[in-house]
Amino acid sequence: MGQCVSAAYGPDYEAAERAAKARAQGLTPMHAAAAAGDAQAVLRLGEEEEKLGWPGRSLKATNIHGSTPLHLAAFNGHVATARALIALGSSVAAVNKQGLTPLHLAAAQQHALMVHALLLAGAQHNVKDTQGWTPLHCSAAFGSTQCIDLLTEAGAAVDEPAFDGRTPLALAAMNGEEKAVRVLLALGASGATPDNEGATPLHLACKPWKGQEGCIAALLDAEGVELAATDRMGQVALHYAARFGNSPAIRALLGAGADATYIDLQGHTPLDVALEAGHQGAVEVLLPPEDKTPTPPHSSIGAGPRTPQASHAVTPSGISLDNLSTTPSAPPLLDLAGPSSSIMAGPSSSSLAGPSSSSMAGPSSSSMAGPSSSSMAGTSNGSGNSSSDLCVVCLDNPRQTVLVPCGHRALCTSCAYAQRSRHCPICRSNILSCVRVFDA
Ligand SMILES: [Zn+2]
Ligand SMILES: [Zn+2]
Repeated sequence: MGQCVSAAYGPDYEAAERAAKARAQGLTPMHAAAAAGDAQAVLRLGEEEEKLGWPGRSLKATNIHGSTPLHLAAFNGHVATARALIALGSSVAAVNKQGLTPLHLAAAQQHALMVHALLLAGAQHNVKDTQGWTPLHCSAAFGSTQCIDLLTEAGAAVDEPAFDGRTPLALAAMNGEEKAVRVLLALGASGATPDNEGATPLHLACKPWKGQEGCIAALLDAEGVELAATDRMGQVALHYAARFGNSPAIRALLGAGADATYIDLQGHTPLDVALEAGHQGAVEVLLPPEDKTPTPPHSSIGAGPRTPQASHAVTPSGISLDNLSTTPSAPPLLDLAGPSSSIMAGPSSSSLAGPSSSSMAGPSSSSMAGPSSSSMAGTSNGSGNSSSDLCVVCLDNPRQTVLVPCGHRALCTSCAYAQRSRHCPICRSNILSCVRVFDA
């Protein structure tokens, strides 16, 4: 009997509880039902509003991120709920404060079925958000090849630049999304298109801490991609790999024949750049073979005390290597492979920008997500910064990225993606990567 009661009243009770929580956060019950994926509740609420003479009223209501109930359903991948919302009259063209449509959010969260449903419902594939990102940029950045296929089949322009000049391919390369890079190249994306700073996808592929070798190899196979392409500072891709201390990328580029002695407009070789940034591991990979301390032979005839490697070496441009002893070595890849790859791509990208930031029910949230994610109402987060706070560098744009590995949400996308940004402005730790956060 008790079971029958809970079966009969359970969902209603849950819905009522959700609605109460939503009201407490200044949200509509419709937002709560949409975020939870309760299509029945959505339809019931729609009927109630119609009876009250307010048809569709809560469908247009927005939360503090400017998101409608349909945004939340799309973000969380609740296809049946999204269809119910659309049937009630939700607009698929609604944009939130980041300029994101439900289609952007579905693409960023890699919900291919949702992307399909929204496109069928008439969602536009070419809408740009406040950064100039199309839904295709979102799917490329997070490596969803299924979403890339759906969007390009619907007519999305494969080489559309964002406001910083970066194409979907550039974003996939920057995030180490090898599969997305290959799919986009196969779809005809240009591998040589530079961004506003002159960085090509090959330059940007030297940044991430996973997938860089695969992305570099894929790009070098593509037409028009050149190792010697330079950005506005006269730097080749190897300079970038050196600056980021990215030893796997350095090895991949050197293996492909990159010129380690190439001098940029400021007179620096990639080795100088690695030294200046204090990336000891990268320096060792970049040093010409004859400058490296030979490994002690096993027989060790006449072997003296081992001198620290490269302790007195001087680089071609005269920078001493002596000061390297105190500089941090390149961060261990293993530590990062997990969190950073899971953030940049895969199911748990939703944990960073994901359900925890939009759904009250969202159970998942990674440790990285801590400071970045906000509650459903987005009223606050761990560090006490509201997501509407402005970028601490330009004081102009909202903070839309989380820095890896420290997890601080301090910068706008422009400042975080700028090639000059190396240290977190809050804690000064090295920035290995930055992940755009989608508020829904
Ligand atoms: Zn900024
Ligand atoms: Zn930090």
